[in-house]
Amino acid sequence: MPSMPASRVPILALTVLVAGASGGCGGAGAAGPPPARPRSALVITLDTTRADALGCYGGKDGVTPNLDALARESVLYEQARAVAPLTLPSHISMFTGLYPPRHSVRTNSLMALPAAATTLAERAAGAGFQTSAFVAALVLDGAYGLSQGFRNYTQPLRKQQSALRIKDTPAANVVRAATQWLRQTDRSRPFLLWVHLFDPHEPYEPSEEFLNQAGGDPYLGEVAATDAAVGYLLGKLREMDRMDETMVVVIADHGEGRGDHGELTHSTLCYDTTLLVPLLVRYPDGWGAGTRARDVVSGVDVYPTLIEALGLGDPGDVDGVSLFGRRPPPGRGVYFETYDGFLSYGWSPLTGWADERGKYLHSSQPELFDVRDDPHESRNLVAERQEDAVRYRERLSALAQRPAFEATRGAVDPALLEAVQSLGYTGAGDVDSELPDPLDTRGLPSPQSRLNELYRFYAASTAGEQGKFDEAVRLLQQVVDQNPRNATAMDLLGYFLNQSRRFQDAITVLEKLQALGPPERHSMHTNFGHAYEELGDELKALQHYERAAQLSPNGPLVLGDWARMLEKTGQAPAAAAVRARIDELTRAPRPSAASGGE
Ligand SMILES: [Zn+2]
Repeated sequence: MPSMPASRVPILALTVLVAGASGGCGGAGAAGPPPARPRSALVITLDTTRADALGCYGGKDGVTPNLDALARESVLYEQARAVAPLTLPSHISMFTGLYPPRHSVRTNSLMALPAAATTLAERAAGAGFQTSAFVAALVLDGAYGLSQGFRNYTQPLRKQQSALRIKDTPAANVVRAATQWLRQTDRSRPFLLWVHLFDPHEPYEPSEEFLNQAGGDPYLGEVAATDAAVGYLLGKLREMDRMDETMVVVIADHGEGRGDHGELTHSTLCYDTTLLVPLLVRYPDGWGAGTRARDVVSGVDVYPTLIEALGLGDPGDVDGVSLFGRRPPPGRGVYFETYDGFLSYGWSPLTGWADERGKYLHSSQPELFDVRDDPHESRNLVAERQEDAVRYRERLSALAQRPAFEATRGAVDPALLEAVQSLGYTGAGDVDSELPDPLDTRGLPSPQSRLNELYRFYAASTAGEQGKFDEAVRLLQQVVDQNPRNATAMDLLGYFLNQSRRFQDAITVLEKLQALGPPERHSMHTNFGHAYEELGDELKALQHYERAAQLSPNGPLVLGDWARMLEKTGQAPAAAAVRARIDELTRAPRPSAASGGE
């Protein structure tokens, strides 16, 4: 294998870090005394936060003073990548150490982490840690599996959700709740606390104070609000005298396109605008404070790093590597993917591998970038570096061969399934689709070649949200004509045809969507149900609402449709059971049992 010219080896590597931190020096990668073991850990995940949004990553001055101050006490990783530009798969990788093909959660809301998987919180709880999570958005609803091992899991109320918009808990409220939990913890036992902050996710609506702090940039204003919340939480930790025992890890789940490469937000492409994330690791004994590492690292490294730091034993067969006082092995590369285009729009999967030599993106239109010389990924070198491309493809192929958990479809809640079955309903069976392996493009168009389609789709959504249903229908019809495999556009077209009271047209579109096959969307059944209900076909409406409820058993709106139709068709006891379930789902969370036993 050709070696890199010495002049191009990143100089700010951990060798500097180790020597600088400990004052000692030794053999390659093993210099100086190791860091002291922290007792407890605080993991802060920043949603939708590009690395370069932070001052310490070269962003605009004054936007993130608290994170910049934390960076001066931490090891800062310059080449940390998310495993996916999607909130749920990315977080699950952090807490399991597994890449998405292995933990099997490839997108938001359609799949849940199987109970058989082991999370960091389960390992910590098993060792007597007090465990608690505070998440700011229902994309991380505990029903998707991340609540495994957390004794307290505080999330937004499900009833606050609307059909079209995510409602999040502001960062300031999340950290206040987390602080209250910290106050009531048992000082004699260690803790694992996870705090998730969602403000930088669109829509960007910062307060005037934070908008001004960010020089009028609304996205950065949300980042500033998040930074202030981080500052508040760390300040409280210091006040409580817990900072000296606590390892702090700050990482983002993915970045934000902001128009780069034609991508406005995130989820469909895998350029570094949405994959490079901030990663700060603060050791309580000051190990490595203020140093910057160029090592190629990933969100999957959070799990093994904290397993080692907290003395929780062997991390097991995971994809991540421990960074606790050490560098990743030489030649290390990291995997990333998005199946959002495949699952939502009928495009090819987009997968890839990055290491210190470059970054390869696999799709029906492969790309290879030398991200050190070309950090903006503007020169595709795939034609001239075929050997490298082959090598990267081998990595992707090898990953596909590794053992994986079987996906659990939907946020399946056993209690609800039981309640439903006791009413005489039987599930229509699992509808798992086999997802293509990372190298299998299925001959579909690549995501980066279909951005115009995406823009038209966004324009239609916006028109629909503003009540311009005819305009939304016209634009979505164009999208579907151009790409008859765009399931999301067809689903939304059905929705807006219903809004325009064109119920028969809606059914025609939805039947074409259903014929495309899995994944089966609960929203499609809801749209079917609304159309049939309006046309007076109560039996068909009931069937579709029931199926939607099976696919989304924790969705109060979905369950509400089902309950209404059960009432209309004279099935009062069944309707009452579903209503009781809705009440349970939308009730305010219980006060956390913070310091109780296991
Ligand atoms: Zn996210």
